[in-house]
Amino acid sequence: MANKITYSVVIPVYNEEEVLMASYERLTDVMETLGASYELLFVNDGSRDGSRDQLDAIQALDPNVRVLHFSRNFGHQIAITAGVDYASGEAVIVIDADLQDPPELIPEMVRKWQEGYQVVYAKRAARKGESFFKKASASIFYRVLAKLSDTPIPVDTGDFRLMDKKICAELRRLHEKNPFVRGQVSWIGFKQTAVEYSRDERLYGETKYPLKKMIKLSIDGITSFSYLPLKLASYLGVAASGIGLLYMLTILFQKLFTSVTVPGWASIVIIQLVFFGIILFVLGMIGEYLGRMYEEAKDRPRYIIDEANGFDAHYLYFARQQGTK
Ligand code: UDP
Ligand code: MG
Repeated sequence: MANKITYSVVIPVYNEEEVLMASYERLTDVMETLGASYELLFVNDGSRDGSRDQLDAIQALDPNVRVLHFSRNFGHQIAITAGVDYASGEAVIVIDADLQDPPELIPEMVRKWQEGYQVVYAKRAARKGESFFKKASASIFYRVLAKLSDTPIPVDTGDFRLMDKKICAELRRLHEKNPFVRGQVSWIGFKQTAVEYSRDERLYGETKYPLKKMIKLSIDGITSFSYLPLKLASYLGVAASGIGLLYMLTILFQKLFTSVTVPGWASIVIIQLVFFGIILFVLGMIGEYLGRMYEEAKDRPRYIIDEANGFDAHYLYFARQQGTK
């Protein structure tokens, strides 16, 4: 077997050709200062630009680089999951390819890990160069999730973090089809701590997280860590019946003791619309969970790898076993 690897850096990549080279260089600079063996594990999540060729070119020159090419775009969270499946380091660092997460924070994370923490996550103290909408929606999402979730998930924390191999071993045992990795890591437990940083702006290219993907991530986060939306149906039902009862009493009172003739039409239409809305909303909510249960039941593999380059053959065999789950 090849030499033991101390640090694995997992980097999900989706159409990042403008920034890949810079990213590789900055990561290499930082990792070299740590004075231990490391691997840079790029997960190419079905990029349709030149990322694939660039990654293969980098890999051909640098024995510390491994590359996984997915057969298509499976999404950021799945790319991280695959990276963790294939990472062999004692500590695994997950970082975005676009340099919004500064690689220079890694040595600080490593120090905390050496102090005995199994998870060191990077908490965003500030976010630069992102739209008001992105910042506001992210902030609301983290707070709603923290309130709803049965597992305490730290706010303002993305997937930039260091995890001990113990955590990665546990992550590999979670086979959720729509994983919300940061929630899973909180759920696993052990000793976790934060380091603060200011999130830089994206230097090249644009976000690969359009609104649609952001909404999917938020709903995955909420549905995999909270049943509250499902329970909401019963709460709304009770509230609605309460309101209905009050209204019934009002009508009875009017009928018996006043001479007001109730025209009726407006109130009926309003009630219809409101309750239609509630019913559809609750049905949709149930659908979100049901759809996810259906995906679990189908039990398809979470990702398909087209090509894996630069891995130690023995380790690749082990990792493939993980990846089939
Ligand atoms: N990414 C990915 N698959 C996707 C979308 C994004 O692997 O379907 C990667 C992307 O290349 C980047 C990271 O996930 O390394 C975070 O994406 P992005 O920077 O676009 O998100 P943002 O910082 O805008 O939230
Ligand atoms: Mg980014």
